Amino acid sequence: MVVGAGVGGLSAAIHARLKGWDVLVVEQSDRCGGKAAGIEACGFQLDPGPSIIILPEVYNDVFRAAGRTPESYLRFQPLNTLSRVFFEGEDPLDLPADQSVCEDVLRRIAPNDLRAFRAMMSKLDPCVAPLEKAVFGSPVQRPTDMMRPGLMQFGLRFNPFTNYKRMIDGWFESPLLRAFFYGFPSYSGQTYHDNAPGALLIPYYMLKRGVYFPEGGVRAIPRAFEHLARELGVEFRFGVKFEEFVGPAAFRTSEGDQIGADAIICNVDKITATRAEGLKPSMSYFTLHWGLNKALGGLEHHNLVIPRQFEAGFESLYRGNFPKPPIVYLNATARLDPEAAPPGCTNLFAVVTVPADLPELNWQARRDEYRDAVLAEVRRSGLSWRDDEVVFERVQDPGTFAQAHGNYMGSLYGPVQSQRHLSLFPLTNWDPNHPRRAYVGGSVQPGAGLPMVTLSGRFAVDALARANP
Ligand SMILES: Cc1cc2nc3c(=O)[nH]c(=O)nc-3n(C[C@H](O)[C@H](O)[C@H](O)COP(=O)(O)OP(=O)(O)OC[C@H]3O[C@@H](n4cnc5c(N)ncnc54)[C@H](O)[C@@H]3O)c2cc1C
Repeated sequence: MVVGAGVGGLSAAIHARLKGWDVLVVEQSDRCGGKAAGIEACGFQLDPGPSIIILPEVYNDVFRAAGRTPESYLRFQPLNTLSRVFFEGEDPLDLPADQSVCEDVLRRIAPNDLRAFRAMMSKLDPCVAPLEKAVFGSPVQRPTDMMRPGLMQFGLRFNPFTNYKRMIDGWFESPLLRAFFYGFPSYSGQTYHDNAPGALLIPYYMLKRGVYFPEGGVRAIPRAFEHLARELGVEFRFGVKFEEFVGPAAFRTSEGDQIGADAIICNVDKITATRAEGLKPSMSYFTLHWGLNKALGGLEHHNLVIPRQFEAGFESLYRGNFPKPPIVYLNATARLDPEAAPPGCTNLFAVVTVPADLPELNWQARRDEYRDAVLAEVRRSGLSWRDDEVVFERVQDPGTFAQAHGNYMGSLYGPVQSQRHLSLFPLTNWDPNHPRRAYVGGSVQPGAGLPMVTLSGRFAVDALARANP
């Protein structure tokens, strides 16, 4: 049985079925997809979570594993522009989703950084494939797994005594480049004060292997997985909420019923499900959706609004506060996904990386203040609209991710770096005390983000198969 039908849970269900196991997926809501499931408001389609899609081969591999042609289920369109950058006080600039075209742009806007940029990419080139084999091929279990060639090779290429920020500052002078790179450690729950060279993998993938848009929007990914799962014979039950484990492979629902199975793969955040104590939550997001009744020009699909004082913003974020000023990612999907907004209208999604649902941040009481800070930053970039052009506004804060999706204190990556498995890796997909339970999703290995949770579906199934030969 799989508990939770997020992309991680769906991937686990497919992999479990491919082993020949009977699979029932139970899910608290009325649909599949979790944070990647689209939601609707006033005729607009909204993505509550993921919007930047990389590594399409990871999803395609799931269909191939089932002997299917991936394109019959899911098609990806490559994007030319990785992100349009609105750096305060300067004209918007498009960063291409391709290394050599990006170098042309850097030659113009940051010529002194071109050599370091190339050196960074060349440093990564030979070790990414072995690293993928070491970390995406199977989970890291024992300290001896650190000796896997791909991990060793990667580790040896980077100074273990420096932190991510010092590394970036040592390479790049350009404020735009530094601001662009500073954000990536947060995508794996780290900060730029950590030794986090692995955070370079995301921009590396964007520049080397491209950024994509799934036809039909991000929601097309869980829909395609659900389609395949149903074809394979996976069954689904909606409206079932896991409350707590009550046996080796049994749990109590919020209605008080007990449900058991031969084994359980849990897509509920591992910290929430196991009620682990004393863990410090990693990062979360504060987001705003706007439906506008006008076509807002000047935007690309992915946009980044960077304030001139971005260093203060990142420093406050990585010290555990709401970033002041905020660095705002803006996603406008309607141009590529006509269903996302009614004709002539604009669907906007602003995402700001923030600390989790910590009491001192007082999300409930300060929501409006945080919202105004984000809106002010977007307006400063030259993008604006009148109040009467807003059809709706929707706010999500870390409390939303805790309550609606079960993320521990709203954190999306499990615990902070120092409390990770071997102080480096996300939590394990297995439980040594409960061999009939396994875990899948953003809180466990190989990590958060849609490609990683897709891989973690296979990790969880393999963990169960290993523990129950
Ligand atoms: C604002 C935001 C932006 C993001 N941007 C990106 C991005 O650009 N690119 C990217 O790749 N990733 C991005 N991510 C991360 C990505 O969304 C997650 O890593 C991924 O969706 C997690 O998948 P999952 O299957 O682990 O969890 P979820 O999607 O949360 O799925 C968990 C499922 O379990 C169900 N569930 C939870 N608790 C219970 C319970 N008690 N009982 C029964 N069912 C339960 C939920 O309803 C849900 O269906 C973003 C996330 C957010 C929030």
